[in-house]
Amino acid sequence: MEIVYGPVSSWRLGRSLGVDLICQEKGKVCSFDCVYCSLGKTTELTTKRRVFVPTELVARELKKVMGKVEADVVTFSGTGEPTLAQNLGEAIKVAREISGLPIAVLTNSSLMMREDVRGNLAQADIVIGQLDAPNEELFKRISRPHEKIVFKEVIEGMKKFREGFKGKFALEVMFVSENKDFSKEIAAIARTIKPDEVQINTPIRPSPVRPLTPQELDEVKKAFEGMNVQLVYEAKKAEVKKVVGLKKLRQLKRPSATDR
Ligand code: SF4
Repeated sequence: MEIVYGPVSSWRLGRSLGVDLICQEKGKVCSFDCVYCSLGKTTELTTKRRVFVPTELVARELKKVMGKVEADVVTFSGTGEPTLAQNLGEAIKVAREISGLPIAVLTNSSLMMREDVRGNLAQADIVIGQLDAPNEELFKRISRPHEKIVFKEVIEGMKKFREGFKGKFALEVMFVSENKDFSKEIAAIARTIKPDEVQINTPIRPSPVRPLTPQELDEVKKAFEGMNVQLVYEAKKAEVKKVVGLKKLRQLKRPSATDR
């Protein structure tokens, strides 16, 4: 079981050492089943939190790797939605103690309406939340969420988290053909959430759907004028020398210099 992998050259985080708290050998456990997901179909669609990987195991694996690789940040991501891991908060604390690095979490934001999840995420230094749709209908079409997840509640959860979070909160918007004509509506919602940064992305990693072109993404960007925006096509890549967890990297389809 490869829990720690990378570092990968992340377009938004630099050299990012990954921690997979979900750790599925095949498929993924997630509250969404996004049309563009590079991991293929969600094998377990759930909103129930549980411990997938004991924190002691995360600590042991991180200790083995530190000193062997050069990284700028430890990022909780991997084979599913990291906030489904009940031990996310304590794993973040342990990862910070062992690595001495800032801790980031990539989340689909679906569980942010829960106080325990917001408490866990508040332990991180950087949280990147996902916002791909302007309304319930497109949310269902793009994110294909678990039936218990309601679009408006996800937005409310993000606002609540933003209000209380002392670290950096970024919103990632993955643009695909389904939502590219709704950039204004998505930007309007983003303004109400007040993130520190908006990361405009498109699936340039292997994905079941086609990525937007740089021209299409430039057009989309206009709707976010006045906000602090990062565009995937404009990002500089950090150089990564030595990596661990090659099997996991292949599973995540991240063999080269990208993180999503
Ligand atoms: S939230 Fe992330 S892991 Fe889950 S289906 Fe979407 S892209 Fe895949």
